Amino acid sequence: KYIARKDAVEPQVQAFLSDNRENALAAAAVVDKKIAAGEDIAAMAGIPGAIKDVICVAGQNTTCGSKMLEHFKAPYNATVIEKLNALDYISLGKTNMDEFAMGSSTENSAYQITHNPWNLDCVPGGSSGGSAAAVAAGSAVWALGSDTGGSIRQPAAYCGVVGLKPTYGLVSRYGLVAYGSSLDQIGPFTTDVTDCAIVLNAIAGHDKKDSTSIPMEKKDYTKALVNDVKGLKIGIPEEFFVEGLDDTCRKALEEAIETYRKLGAEIVPVKLPHMKYGLAAYYIIAPAEASSNLARYDGVGFGFRVDGTDIVDMYRKTRTAGFGPEVRRRIMLGTYVLSSGYYDAYYLRAMKVRTLLKQDFDKALSQCDVLLTPTAPDTAFRIGQHDNDPLAMYLGDVCTVSLNLAGLPGISIPCGYKDGMPIGMQLIGAALGEETLLRVAYTFE
Ligand code: GLN
Repeated sequence: KYIARKDAVEPQVQAFLSDNRENALAAAAVVDKKIAAGEDIAAMAGIPGAIKDVICVAGQNTTCGSKMLEHFKAPYNATVIEKLNALDYISLGKTNMDEFAMGSSTENSAYQITHNPWNLDCVPGGSSGGSAAAVAAGSAVWALGSDTGGSIRQPAAYCGVVGLKPTYGLVSRYGLVAYGSSLDQIGPFTTDVTDCAIVLNAIAGHDKKDSTSIPMEKKDYTKALVNDVKGLKIGIPEEFFVEGLDDTCRKALEEAIETYRKLGAEIVPVKLPHMKYGLAAYYIIAPAEASSNLARYDGVGFGFRVDGTDIVDMYRKTRTAGFGPEVRRRIMLGTYVLSSGYYDAYYLRAMKVRTLLKQDFDKALSQCDVLLTPTAPDTAFRIGQHDNDPLAMYLGDVCTVSLNLAGLPGISIPCGYKDGMPIGMQLIGAALGEETLLRVAYTFE
């Protein structure tokens, strides 16, 4: 059924970069046999999903939406894939993304532009736009994405699905191609909060192969799905509701706040005084880490190479031809802010802002259980709308990036429509507060 649906919609939506139907059907047959033999099967078993093309699946192409990795086949599985394999998961293919996860629209892919299933003239958001669109279009029940500054939550909002960025360290990054290593997290896209908890159950947990993974007991997140918010405190940070937030989106969020009040939650105003520096700090720290992480693509180890007159010429030609314009821009920005003379003025200051922001969030979250904010200032924009204006694209990330800087979990769930396009509401939790987040999201749904 899902393969047929995918075949019907893919010519328009273009969410996938590869097709895995043969493996998927073989994996489904294994699950069928287990069922026929009366064996217990996992909740994920045989349920068709999709994997963002930044996550390594052994033997399969892992392009990261880049020409640089056009022919790169991952030699090993990411930890999340190993975990899913143990649960008999099925993947229908790898999904399209902004090159190396840099972008907010999936227009930066070297291969194709993914279209928003709600309106094909609009972007699905990004960088995990392929995963969001695959779930929204009904081609997959769930998908994995990665979120460095909003790349799960923002496309989830634009495509009217649920997207969760877990606490930094809850899900292993082993086998996730690095963008900003201190910010990156893998997380699920699903159509509802119950499925979100089921996928989180499958992928969360300590991993010795990731030194930033948090050692902790395994939890069953489905137990958190309690349809009740009575007595919970929901914080409203005024800094998220300022000028620039679209009026219809603001109304939808105000209605959501009212709904929570009626359901018995206490609504408390909170302050995040350093929030206004979050976007600037992010666009220094993320490119700084990216410029270092992307140094490995030098024409030697990963396939793509343009020959040169000597090795430096080969590096230069390979990196000029292999990376798209946005990735080259980030590498230049990152190299600049890390260079001696500018390090103190930019990188170091951004790191100080990061600490202040984290303290702001800690204080706000000591006064309430979760924060409620918009996921993005507006609904999905039109394809091409931000061409040649990278700053306009960056500004759209204002609601999502600060969580990554603070390492906190965030979920985006649908909360209304504007001209037929979905509006997203973001709930932010304390570190490892996924259970409360899921409960609050579940009650709204
Ligand atoms: N849009 C942001 C960026 O381009 C976030 C991307 C992401 O979360 N991977 O950096």
